[in-house]
Amino acid sequence: MSRLDSKIVTITGASSGIGAATARELAARGAAVVLGARRTDRLDSTVARIRAEGGRAQMLEVDVTKRVDLEALVALAVNRFGRLDVLVGNAGVARTAPMADLDVDGWDAMIDVNLRGVLHGIAAALPVFRRQGRGHFVTTVSTSGLKIVPAQAVYAGTKNAVRTLLEALRQESTDGVLRTTSVSPGFVRTELVDHIDDPEQREQTQRTMATLGISPDAVARAVAFAVEQPDDVEIGDITIRPTRQN
Ligand code: NDP
Repeated sequence: MSRLDSKIVTITGASSGIGAATARELAARGAAVVLGARRTDRLDSTVARIRAEGGRAQMLEVDVTKRVDLEALVALAVNRFGRLDVLVGNAGVARTAPMADLDVDGWDAMIDVNLRGVLHGIAAALPVFRRQGRGHFVTTVSTSGLKIVPAQAVYAGTKNAVRTLLEALRQESTDGVLRTTSVSPGFVRTELVDHIDDPEQREQTQRTMATLGISPDAVARAVAFAVEQPDDVEIGDITIRPTRQN
């Protein structure tokens, strides 16, 4: 029996890339997964695929910038499966541009999704975890926060802010109720960079992803590793990048 057989896991940003791969990986290992994102057609197909393979999955349209949506997602897990064991705060957007470009809309979008979205998840799940006496926050941060490079200042800033939140939560929760895990991927082949506005930046990053990026399944296995540990073992940080990434 897998350690995930009895786990209930909610994942944001589960409509593509790392989130969808994590949903499939955890469901294949026996977890019941509750998926949230805005593109419900994509969530539908992931849920259908998981169920066709014998797994348990539910979905809900979620915009992480809205606190009520995270409350509804957590409530769905608790109402449908009786509790929530893990919240994977994975939804994210990346806009790359030098600060001097003053892409203030892009800054706002990253703060709203990458930072505020994770906070909304914490606000929704923390009372449930405390009530249950057990819970695990996993977030997808980034190697961009570990090695600062030009044109990613705000993206890296949001990811490092989330890393800080989880470390603070960990220190505030040494009673053994909470576990926190920050997963820092490097280049991963997903749709993330397809949304970069500047065509030159977009094409350059897409080329890097195509030649260097690893599969989102690799990140999903890293998340599974953290989630599968026994309750008294916390995997705090995981860095996972292509072997050839500098
Ligand atoms: P994708 O673009 O494939 O996935 C991003 C996910 O975030 C989608 O499911 C998208 O769903 C969701 N999302 C975006 N905005 C919102 C919103 N407002 N509300 C709810 N969901 C939202 O890229 P990845 O899989 O790569 O990204 C997943 C995470 O991994 C992100 O946090 C990203 O920053 C991080 N990451 C990615 C790396 C990479 O190289 N790919 C490297 C390091 C970190 P929808 O649009 O349907 O709402």
